[in-house]
Amino acid sequence: MTVVQVACIHCQQTFNNGKAETGHQRYRCKDCNKSFQLEYRYNGNLPGTHEQIIKMTMNGSGVRDIGLVPEISPTTVLARLKNSTRQQ
Ligand SMILES: [Zn+2]
Repeated sequence: MTVVQVACIHCQQTFNNGKAETGHQRYRCKDCNKSFQLEYRYNGNLPGTHEQIIKMTMNGSGVRDIGLVPEISPTTVLARLKNSTRQQ
């Protein structure tokens, strides 16, 4: 059995692996308690997608145009935009 050390994408701390879900390995950081995967089935869940949506919106791109670049649905783009206004 091979042990793979994975660094947290949020705080860069090393930690042990978590449980598998939908065929991909999930990891949970013991320090910041956030979870993530190294591979995602859907591009909308990739780290950095939310920031890309906000950036393209600020540059005047439409919902359908934003969805074409990372290949996510316009529904996901709208949901992310609604949630980003709720957090502010
Ligand atoms: Zn962490």
